[in-house]
Amino acid sequence: MQEAPNQASGWKSAVYAAIIYVGIALIFTAWGVFFGPSAAQVGSTRPEETIPGHVAELAVFGLILGLGSMIVYSRKGLYLAFLLPTLTVALDIDHLPAYLGYAETIRPAHSFVFIVVALALTAIMIKALYMELAMASAFMAHMAVDTGIFAPFSPVTFWYVQLDPYRLPFAAGALLCAVAAGAALRKSQGIINGGGPMGNA
Ligand SMILES: [Zn+2]
Repeated sequence: MQEAPNQASGWKSAVYAAIIYVGIALIFTAWGVFFGPSAAQVGSTRPEETIPGHVAELAVFGLILGLGSMIVYSRKGLYLAFLLPTLTVALDIDHLPAYLGYAETIRPAHSFVFIVVALALTAIMIKALYMELAMASAFMAHMAVDTGIFAPFSPVTFWYVQLDPYRLPFAAGALLCAVAAGAALRKSQGIINGGGPMGNA
């Protein structure tokens, strides 16, 4: 069983997780720009006046999940309440080329391939189940808030599908994974088994 992090290592892991997540999203973005077929390079930004509202929606949903995850674990998991909204918003870093005026594929990191790679790297580098669950939750939270089309297997194929029918399942998955992240932390700390919050910390 993995050891529960103390607060300092929890914050450190959260920062590493954010770096992994954003780093891979940028690699997927660059891949789409350089290797995506030009017919698929039709990504654009949403109307500027709608951006703050959309970011706020993402942040609020991420915050709700982060707080939920923290409540399931304990107050010591405050880093979850920061990590979840950060990752939920951060996926849109893949719109960067369009903001800068370059052609890009649509939502290159809004992809199952992206989240599988990000989770695998997180598993290898951070080795903490709760962190993988938190990351999966944030990804699904973002997909639950977005509308329109995405490429589920970018950058393997830029086949675009409508996101809307999957928003509810994504929201449910986000909620489940956020609760599971808190429960995984709680279990690893021995709180459930009566070890008390000082448990084996
Ligand atoms: Zn998005």
